[in-house]
Amino acid sequence: MSIEVPAKFLVGSMKGKGEIELVEVDTPEPGYGQALIKLEATAICTWEQRSFSGQQENKFPFVGGHEIIGTIVKFGPEYRGTLKVGDRVAIGASGCGACYYCVRGQDRACKFHYDGSVDYGDAGWGPGGFAQYKVHPDDGLFLVGDAPAKYAALAEPLSCAIHSTKLAGVVLGSEVVVIGAGVMGLFNLVAAKARGARVIVSEVDAGRLAKAKELGADEIIDASKEDPIAKVFELTDGRGADVVIAAIGHPKANEQGYAMLSEKGTFVLFASAHPEGPLTLSPNKIHNHEHRVIGSLSSDKVDFMNAAWLIRHGNVNLEPFVQAVYPLEDVKGALEEAIGVGTYRVVVEM
Ligand SMILES: [Zn+2]
Ligand SMILES: [Zn+2]
Repeated sequence: MSIEVPAKFLVGSMKGKGEIELVEVDTPEPGYGQALIKLEATAICTWEQRSFSGQQENKFPFVGGHEIIGTIVKFGPEYRGTLKVGDRVAIGASGCGACYYCVRGQDRACKFHYDGSVDYGDAGWGPGGFAQYKVHPDDGLFLVGDAPAKYAALAEPLSCAIHSTKLAGVVLGSEVVVIGAGVMGLFNLVAAKARGARVIVSEVDAGRLAKAKELGADEIIDASKEDPIAKVFELTDGRGADVVIAAIGHPKANEQGYAMLSEKGTFVLFASAHPEGPLTLSPNKIHNHEHRVIGSLSSDKVDFMNAAWLIRHGNVNLEPFVQAVYPLEDVKGALEEAIGVGTYRVVVEM
C-alpha cells in the first residue's frame, strides 16, 4: 500500500502570545527510524494553552500540539517493525531501546523520550501537532484501530495517568483518592478505574465533581463543604487510602493528601507546582507506616500502548473530556476556547 503525499503542507505557527497562523512548509522525508504521519486530530494541552495565553515562556515561533492521532503514510528506509502504511496510530513517546532505562522498561527516563519534536525553521519548532503531517520516531506509534480521532488524540494524557497508577501499584481492590478533578485528575480517575480500583475524588468545584461522577467516581467529596481527610477515613472503614494521587500542585493538597494515607499507603505527586510551595513530611511517619512518596511524569511506552489499547477497544469513556472540536483552519478559535477557565479538552481536526 502506498499513499500519495503532497510536496507541502500547513502547520499552525504560533508567533507569540495570542498569535497563530497557518503557514506552508515542505513535506519532510522520513529518515531511518522515522515515519511520516498524516494527522487526523490533536488535542490542546496546558503547554499550548499557557504558551498562547502568555502564562508560560516559550521560544516562538512554536508549532504546538502533542496529543496526536494520525495515519502512517510512509516509513523511512529499512523499517523493521510490524506497523503498516495505512495504520491509524496515536503518537507518543520514543526511546533508544538500548540504554539502561529502556532495557529496564523505564524508557520515560531515556534521553530520547521526547524525540518526536519537529523543526520547520522560520515556521517554528515544537511537538508539531497543529499540522497536516508530521515525521515521528517509528517506535513511538501506537495502534488505535477505528477509534474516533477525538478520543484517540487523548491517548497521551491517558498514558500519563496509566503511568502514575502503575508506579503507585494500583490493582483490583485498591482504594484510591484523586485530589483535584481537573482534566488530569479525571484521567487518573479513569486509569485507576480501568485497573479495578475504588476511586474517591476530592475537589472544591461542584461542576468538576459532577464530571467525576459522570466518569465513574465511586465517591465524591466536596472539599469546600466537608473535611476531606475525615471523610476519606470514614469511607475506608477508618484505614485511609492505599493510594492518594495529588493532581493539583498545591501545598494544601499535598498536606491533605499525605494525611489521608493508610498503613503502607503511597502518595503520588502527579502535578507540578506553580509557584512551588514547600512539602513538609515527617520522616518518622513515613518510617512507622511504611509510606511511599513518589513522583510521576509523562509515561513509559508500555503505558502509552495500554492507553491506545483501552481507547481502541472502547474500554474507556472519553466523551466527557471532549469539550469542542475545531477544524485546523480555525486553530486560533480552538486555542481561544481552550484557554478559558475550567475547560476540558478542545480538539483540532485536520
Ligand atoms: Zn498533554
Ligand atoms: Zn533509551
